[in-house]
Amino acid sequence: VIEIGVPEHSVITTCAYCGVGCSFKAEMRGDELVRMVPWKDGKANRGHSCVKGRFAWGYAQHKDRILKPMIRDKVEEPWREVEWDEAFSFAAKRLRGLQETYGKDSIGVITSSRCTNEETYLVQKLTRQVFGNNNTDTCARVCHSPTGYGLGQTFGTSAGTQDFDSVEHSDVIIVIGANPTDAHPVFGSRMKKRLRQGAKIIVIDPRRIDLVKSPHIKAAHHLPLRPGTNVAMLTSLAHVIVTEGLMDEAFIRERCDWDEFQDYAEFVSAPENSPEALEAATGVPAAEVRAAARLFATGGNGAIYYGLGVTEHSQGSTAVIGIANLAMLTGNIGRPGVGVNPLRGQNNVQGSCDMGSFPHELPGYRHVKNPEVREIFESLWGTKLSDEPGLRINNMLDAATEGTFKGIYIQGEDILQSDPDTHHVAAGLKAMDCVIVHDLFLNETANYAHVFLPGSTFLEKDGTFTNAERRINLVREVMKPKTGMADWEVTQALANAMGGNWSYTHPREVMAEIAATTPSFANVSFDRIAQYGSVQWPCNDTTAPEGTPIMHVDGFVRGKGKFIRTEYVATDEKVGPRFPLLLTTGRILSQYNVGAQTRRTDNTAWHPEDLLEIHPQDAEDRGVHDGDFVRLASRTGETTLRAKVTDRVAPGVIYTTFHHPDTQANVITTDYSDWATNCPEYKVTAVQVSPSNGP
Ligand code: SF4
Repeated sequence: VIEIGVPEHSVITTCAYCGVGCSFKAEMRGDELVRMVPWKDGKANRGHSCVKGRFAWGYAQHKDRILKPMIRDKVEEPWREVEWDEAFSFAAKRLRGLQETYGKDSIGVITSSRCTNEETYLVQKLTRQVFGNNNTDTCARVCHSPTGYGLGQTFGTSAGTQDFDSVEHSDVIIVIGANPTDAHPVFGSRMKKRLRQGAKIIVIDPRRIDLVKSPHIKAAHHLPLRPGTNVAMLTSLAHVIVTEGLMDEAFIRERCDWDEFQDYAEFVSAPENSPEALEAATGVPAAEVRAAARLFATGGNGAIYYGLGVTEHSQGSTAVIGIANLAMLTGNIGRPGVGVNPLRGQNNVQGSCDMGSFPHELPGYRHVKNPEVREIFESLWGTKLSDEPGLRINNMLDAATEGTFKGIYIQGEDILQSDPDTHHVAAGLKAMDCVIVHDLFLNETANYAHVFLPGSTFLEKDGTFTNAERRINLVREVMKPKTGMADWEVTQALANAMGGNWSYTHPREVMAEIAATTPSFANVSFDRIAQYGSVQWPCNDTTAPEGTPIMHVDGFVRGKGKFIRTEYVATDEKVGPRFPLLLTTGRILSQYNVGAQTRRTDNTAWHPEDLLEIHPQDAEDRGVHDGDFVRLASRTGETTLRAKVTDRVAPGVIYTTFHHPDTQANVITTDYSDWATNCPEYKVTAVQVSPSNGP
């Protein structure tokens, strides 16, 4: 029994974990948070929650939090606690000094999908207005950047097409490369409810996730494809639909570019794109693929939900395009129950991308080369903006090792743990002369930092998050920042120390600037969000005061929907005698990403270590038993963890989570990445497993 006492007042705010964006009532006694209660009027969650939002907020009070700024001349020296002003002037002097010596393009930033829209907008503004370059990238680079590219190319905007309610009207659901019951549990429950009511599900995943078979749920088809073959699978599904005449020709003629469709149809109909021809690549029997394609094309409202199992591949962008092709082919766009729905991992992936975190795009996904868009910001910010796209994260690290990139401000992201090829990240950070880490805890990246700016938790700030259905929710200050400064104030102070002359007094003023400069956020304001509880962009005063639940109803944002060929190209990451197994990764319900928050809560009791799932046959071949320690090695590195022998994974495929730093999953992953966006290929690594005595 937990004694919590009687709450005295409550504040409505938004969960800071996943892209579902559940609303909570933070119940307080004085300044103390006593419990988080899911808010019944929250439009994303309707009173439901998972174990993360409900219980895993204790990290805000954890003793590991750093509450004072710290600086040091060299990373070999101990940290020195200083007052905020000294930290800002130290950082500003270093950054300006680097620009004087190495040029204005020698510094940059990384924004965080954990932070609010307003904080992210200010960090990219710092880069563009104060640094004078476009060297801004986001941690979404390593998760959903292919969604930005793929949906931007085919539909004209980088966002999910549906609200969560839409699933209640679906008849056939494809889930590909996602595990909603673990990673997006509140939405996963709504999907399961629809399945219990009779909707059918097709699961495309190397692993037997809960949606394949669990009490009262049995997938119509499970296509357990070999990791790295999503494009082959999507193309072969489209082959069946086109060659068997199952496409929605009326929809395609009316809504899509017909010439491009004909080109696509010719490509996809070729014998080499049939399920039979691609069976050797995917490992899935052609007859099962054909049956799944027929069901999706003829089964009524068809919706597609996908996650990082689609995007984190060398062909991540091509796979997103393949999903969009499939939806257009079957006329499954623009009404309830259908659509293309990226399930965003972090709470504000959608928002951080909307806010201009990419080095080639200003807020609202508008290219930096567009003079009319630059002019909007130039007249407001009183400075000329660079029209040269900046560096992506991996390019910044490359340039650092080459000696041309010298300083970085990283907000809310532990790139040493979360980015691929840890050795490459460490080498890049080590080569820089000014690494500024702005975070809650002294994370692994901070080992290479010269300035540590303590961050504030979601409980200590005002602002907004945008969830996976484009819903903008208010984040409300539940308690004062323990550090004395909210994150947006820290960025403002750093900008001003470098001559920025900013004077925001509250995040609502930042949102007013976003609304004035960014068409998709036009008419969004704190007042409107408070009035309706939340708003789904885009919104207006007349027809959509609460926003737009379903996009592309009468036409695509780009005009006509665009079919694009999706040629399957096998990843360069190949199995062989030395590394005969394929490793893929995912999340578990109680933990979150690299665990910086959840590991500092009681949720750790549910998942004290990462386990390596291995098929019984593969385990037996290696003399590995359930619970044994094993050595996991790839061509880039090795680590040790405990084995879980299970037939949830197919022979030849192994699986682990990455919530604990000891696992060091990214020591194993390679430097291959998506051809269009450089999103790392986390989901396919050739490995060997052998018995071990332990770490
Ligand atoms: Fe938070 Fe996501 Fe769980 Fe909702 S489903 S409580 S947003 S972690």
